[in-house]
Amino acid sequence: MAIQGYWQSYINGEWVDGAGGRLAVDNPSTGEHLADVALADAADVEKAMRAARACVESRALTAITPVERGRMVRAMGDWILARKDEIAEVLTLESGKPLFESKIEVDGAARFLEYFGNQADTLEGKSIPLGDDYYDFTTYEPMGTVVHIIPWNFPIDTLARGLAPALVAGNANVIKTPELTPLTIIYIARAAEAAGFPPGAVNLMCGYGHEAGAALAAHPDANLQVFTGSVATGISVATAAAKNVVPCVLELGGKSAAVVYDDADIENLIENVRWALFFHAGQICSAMSRVLVHEKIYDDVIDAVRAKAEQMKIAPGIEDADMGAMTSLGQRDRAASIVEKAVAEGAQLVTGGSAPDNSGAFYKPTLFANVTPEMDIAHTEVFGPVLAAIPFKTDAEALAIANDSQYGLVGGVFTKDLSRAMRTAQSIQAGQIFVNEWFIGGAQVPFGGYKKSGYGREKGRDALLNYVQTKNIGIKI
Ligand code: NAD
Repeated sequence: MAIQGYWQSYINGEWVDGAGGRLAVDNPSTGEHLADVALADAADVEKAMRAARACVESRALTAITPVERGRMVRAMGDWILARKDEIAEVLTLESGKPLFESKIEVDGAARFLEYFGNQADTLEGKSIPLGDDYYDFTTYEPMGTVVHIIPWNFPIDTLARGLAPALVAGNANVIKTPELTPLTIIYIARAAEAAGFPPGAVNLMCGYGHEAGAALAAHPDANLQVFTGSVATGISVATAAAKNVVPCVLELGGKSAAVVYDDADIENLIENVRWALFFHAGQICSAMSRVLVHEKIYDDVIDAVRAKAEQMKIAPGIEDADMGAMTSLGQRDRAASIVEKAVAEGAQLVTGGSAPDNSGAFYKPTLFANVTPEMDIAHTEVFGPVLAAIPFKTDAEALAIANDSQYGLVGGVFTKDLSRAMRTAQSIQAGQIFVNEWFIGGAQVPFGGYKKSGYGREKGRDALLNYVQTKNIGIKI
């Protein structure tokens, strides 16, 4: 498919060029140039923030009834679904992921818009008894202007996840898209325009993190920062926001562990490794990147993972691939250097550990056995298709290893024993635990981290409360 050669920013209801010129976007499967996107700088950030503030002050969004705002958000989802094939192709070309994965992502984005669209008129306050002489009640008001800074791995999904509840609650939004995958996400702004959102309600631009991103994070007129990305950048966004006393929602990295007991169904586990680690070549914050396996079944699990890894068809995502390229050569080389360190530290490389092709950013599904908790590979987030398998003897030992991480995004347990599963689920320090199936849930299930994986929850009804502030009104009768 020949795709549009140049994509503009959307600021104050208009499609505009970037004050910083243009940024080239490459196809990571081939290394070839794909398209250009308008490059925003701090001046564009200023324009977008002013447009968002003007939208808030005009009360244009809150004048629309909640049910109508919800319908508009749902209409965005319908608009996107109607163009699913086209959007999925662009996503595959810019990200490297297989087409079937891109379609799952587009469906997921539409689902967030549907789910939160349906919640629009459920944000109810309460009345508080103060005796006969008073009437007192609370209402939820929008935060005002919301900044969204988006990573490159699931761009359209991640934005829909935060933008849908923000719009439903009546906020105006300024979005910075990722440098590596800035194209697909532009369909969200088109959908907002098509749904009839007023100018300034949705402003979207691509810019460098250190420039447009930093300007947004530090902007004194932002009322909420919603950030998804690495821990280091999350800390710098939160530090900048703290100087303005602005709250943040931070969805950061992970090194999530599956605890596999000796009664686990190994076939089921392997299917889960396939989806939880080889999906999008492991570039998933909630990937199953550590598997802690009871010593009785350890060798069987290693053999089965190796067989699955070696069966995976690695090819450009636009072809019939099980796993596509990583999203950039830089990401691939970063994964390769973590693999090299693991080998140097004595981890046993069972399969993979190399890049099959140098023009595309491919990396083979990789398995390390006999990883010990002291090794770097047991702690560093690879953000690639690399699994660290660690044997254990007792449940207590498994839990200690699972929790020996700066992260706490998700975790999992594989066993037929429900009591053992529940004890483990209670003890793993993570925001979401999967029992016998990784990624159980959807838009309606809260998601977010413990420890350095971040704070605040996205998805589910909990997430709506990020985007409102409580006002109490007391009346003397
Ligand atoms: P990143 O932190 O480098 O970039 C994320 C975004 O922040 C990009 O848009 C980038 O331009 C911007 N940015 C960079 N420097 C900035 C600065 N100084 N100020 C403001 N913005 C800045 O992360 P990445 O490499 O794009 O994504 C990979 C990381 O994101 C991994 O650690 C992964 O686990 C995490 N992640 C988490 C989730 C989640 O929901 N928890 C989802 C996807 C990715």
